[in-house]
Parts: sequence; structure tokens; C-alpha cells
Amino acid sequence: MTLKARCHCGATQFEVTQAPEWVSDCNCSFCSKRGALWAYYTPDQFKLTTARDRVSTYQWGGYFGTHHHCGVCGCGTYSQFPSFENGVVNHDAPRISLNARLFEDFDLDAVPVRKTDGRSY
Ligand SMILES: [Zn+2]
Repeated sequence: MTLKARCHCGATQFEVTQAPEWVSDCNCSFCSKRGALWAYYTPDQFKLTTARDRVSTYQWGGYFGTHHHCGVCGCGTYSQFPSFENGVVNHDAPRISLNARLFEDFDLDAVPVRKTDGRSY
């Protein structure tokens, strides 16, 4: 199934190949302020369907990830990171974190929320 998502104004829209089975509530300094619930995908499962030039980007800390938000309405949209399973950064295995609150026609209350202790990374 294709699941679609959009920011509040619609300038940033994207779709993924499947619904998330769970979402992450991360307590790092960035996520705790942004308030997103994250769903994780590989790049081939993700497609941005609106213009890339409407996407604004924020980086911080070690600059190894990029956090995107809509340049028009400001909604946090998606982030791109190398995987870091077991604390090892793997640039050959990029992944995309989507703000699951942007999904359309999806019951976010129906999937479990896992706490991610990003503050300790
Ligand atoms: Zn927007």
C-alpha cells in the first residue's frame, strides 16, 4: 500500500510504500522540542512528491544528519541519517525518518510508540 503524507500547507508532500508498524518518540534535545513521532524507512521506500526547493534543512551537533521542514508552513517533515545500529555510523545504509504525524488517513493511535533515548547518544 502507498501511504501519503503532507505538511500543513501542502508544499511538502511525500509517500511511502507501507504503513509503519511502530513509531519512535525520541527524547534528544531536538526531537523533544519538535514533538514529532518518527517512522523509519529506507530511501527506496520513500518518495518526495513535491518540489525539493520548498524543503528547508536544519543541521546541528555532529552534522551527520539533515533535518528537513517545510519552508512555507514550518512543519517538521523528514530527516536523513546514516544508520547507527549499535552505535556504529554506517553511511552505506542511509535511512529516512518521517514525521508520522503528517500521514494522511492513518490512525497514529493504532501503532505502538517506542521511547528512544536519543539524549544518551
Ligand atoms: Zn508546509
